[in-house]
Amino acid sequence: MVNRQWRLLASPVGPVKESDFEWREEPAPEPGENQLLVRNIYLSLDPAMRGWMRDVPSYLPPVRLGDVMRGTTLGVVEQSRHPDFTAGDLVRGVLGWQEYALSDGSGLSRESRHPAIPLTAYMAVFGHIGLTAYVGVLDIGKPQAGETLVVTAAAGAVGSLAGQIGKIHGCRVVGIAGSDEKCRWLTAELGFDAAINYRTENVLESLRRHCPNGIDIDFENVGGGMLDAILTLINKHARIVLCGLISQYNATAPVPGPYNFTNVLVRRSRIEGFIVVDHWGRAPAAMADLGRWLAEGRLRYRVDVVEGLENTPRALDRLFDGSNQGKLVVKIGEEPAL
Ligand code: NDP
Repeated sequence: MVNRQWRLLASPVGPVKESDFEWREEPAPEPGENQLLVRNIYLSLDPAMRGWMRDVPSYLPPVRLGDVMRGTTLGVVEQSRHPDFTAGDLVRGVLGWQEYALSDGSGLSRESRHPAIPLTAYMAVFGHIGLTAYVGVLDIGKPQAGETLVVTAAAGAVGSLAGQIGKIHGCRVVGIAGSDEKCRWLTAELGFDAAINYRTENVLESLRRHCPNGIDIDFENVGGGMLDAILTLINKHARIVLCGLISQYNATAPVPGPYNFTNVLVRRSRIEGFIVVDHWGRAPAAMADLGRWLAEGRLRYRVDVVEGLENTPRALDRLFDGSNQGKLVVKIGEEPAL
């Protein structure tokens, strides 16, 4: 068996390029005692990957040059010499941009496969994406019925779930996204109260129109000018849920901070950053609620599947140019038969 993989060759400057990675083909490893071999099926592409390639201290150590690029995968156990796993198990782990991965079981979770749930939903909803939206909105945003929630990158994987969770909890939800098609999807199919195309509209003016009672919660995925427009309209005791700052991940020079910071003070607001890896304890509750809302038809999602591991570096850029339609995943190999 040949293991095809992408290794990080250089720390990218600006947007990621294929030449920042090296394509390798080597024999698939053999599991030793207490080890197992996983065949990866889907790889999650996440904006955070851009940060992991930067040689600066963060919540995870940077990926070292020459190492297989880090990434969360859903896969199937191919061979096992580990007491807790057997061949055929569906598993999730951080097994990287590669076809086969050796594991000692640490950080690996066994997933029970539900015949009515497509495997892609395990990446788009039941995993770190769903948990991020759930914890961000409910534990940090603490929504009250009737409050106004604004979501940036609202048509993306996390944002689209965050807005729908806000609706389920009785909020008025306004999304900001980068195309008319995305905005239509948010209002016509996901039930957002309004959506703003930041590429064609004046965001501040549109927010004023769509948030007549001000903004109580901001689920922030983007930062920059969009965050400033939102800060202009926050209410007293607003919560700014700092989930991501994608507009600055490719920056090559220091970025300016929020201009409208005074409002955080005078409106007695709270800005709280969070990282999903600290919140796995909430996963059982989150997955149960997300599953129920999905079954009740109250939650929808889109998955954007890129075929072939070889296309991974180019596909990652789609998160930054906005061409992904929902949760971006790479299909590395065939799904096992049910
Ligand atoms: P998405 O599916 O939302 O894809 C990223 C989207 O961001 C793009 O589709 C694009 O949508 C938008 N975008 C990219 N660049 C810009 C820009 N310069 N200005 C405005 N919008 C931009 O990705 P995810 O759902 O995976 O991630 C969304 C956010 O959540 C990211 O900031 C990510 O870092 C964060 N995140 C945080 C986690 C945590 O633990 N705190 C965990 C997971 C994700 P558009 O067409 O609308 O421009």
